[in-house]
Amino acid sequence: MTKCYDLHCHSTASDGLLTPSELVYRAAQQQVDVLALTDHDTVSGLQEAYSAAQAHNIELVPGIECSALWARRTVHVLGLNIDPANSALQQAQEQLQQLREERAERIARRLAKVGLQDALAGARAHAGEGAIARPHFAAHMVEAGFVKSTAQAFKRYLGNGKIGDVANAWPSLTESVATILNAGGIPVLAHPDKYNLTRTKLRALVSDFVAAGGRGLEVVNGYQDNAVTQRLVALCTEYQLLGSSGSDFHVPSQPWQELGRQSLLPTEVQPVWDVF
Ligand code: AMP
Ligand code: MN
Ligand code: MN
Ligand code: MN
Repeated sequence: MTKCYDLHCHSTASDGLLTPSELVYRAAQQQVDVLALTDHDTVSGLQEAYSAAQAHNIELVPGIECSALWARRTVHVLGLNIDPANSALQQAQEQLQQLREERAERIARRLAKVGLQDALAGARAHAGEGAIARPHFAAHMVEAGFVKSTAQAFKRYLGNGKIGDVANAWPSLTESVATILNAGGIPVLAHPDKYNLTRTKLRALVSDFVAAGGRGLEVVNGYQDNAVTQRLVALCTEYQLLGSSGSDFHVPSQPWQELGRQSLLPTEVQPVWDVF
């Protein structure tokens, strides 16, 4: 039997709805064999996830999803099989959390201008102990009756180019890849199709990623079109990159991002788990 791999998901340590234990339990129910917890800019959920994984006979891969800047855009780099105790990684994580806090204050000030008061406190309440992220603002906006849904919150206020989409000084792509390599991890460019880049720009991104020491592309991210998968397979072949596959699970109510339900990694690419 081939194993079921899911190498991208989120818990309450960032913008996921389930605690690390609940997440691992759900992964077990979904017949996932190997799970990477990849919270945004933090490894704080990993310890709890480890214990739960032992109890449920799941192989846990320690991971992170790092926010990074490339050509003034935000891109995400997965760090798979990192050492969470690595001191440079710990430092980077603290810096990233600080940047998230500062950005959250700016987002709240912007939202106040369009009539939403106390957004910072509201978003914090949803973030709890976790890394504060835009979905926490969206949750607050829904709760306050300011928008009808998370989707509407992003479409009108938080998404690309909207008032709550404030620029942030994330570490560069090169720095982020270096941090992951330094922590013994494998840098994988997350959801390359989600950056709305032209083919030429995407190739420039992949080329810079490889030059920085990047090792893989996330060929499958949640539910996605087969044509997209094929394009990413071709990029893997061209740049001799490993392929990864993950659901990008955040909440239980989204079947297109269910744990372990993403399609199989095409056999033409070498799976990233070969080098764990
Ligand atoms: P942040 O890391 O704070 O910039 O927030 C980015 C997160 O917001 C992503 O990881 C997704 O979980 C979520 N997100 C981004 N775009 C959308 C969207 N259009 N609808 C719903 N959630 C989104
Ligand atoms: Mn997210
Ligand atoms: Mn992402
Ligand atoms: Mn993600």
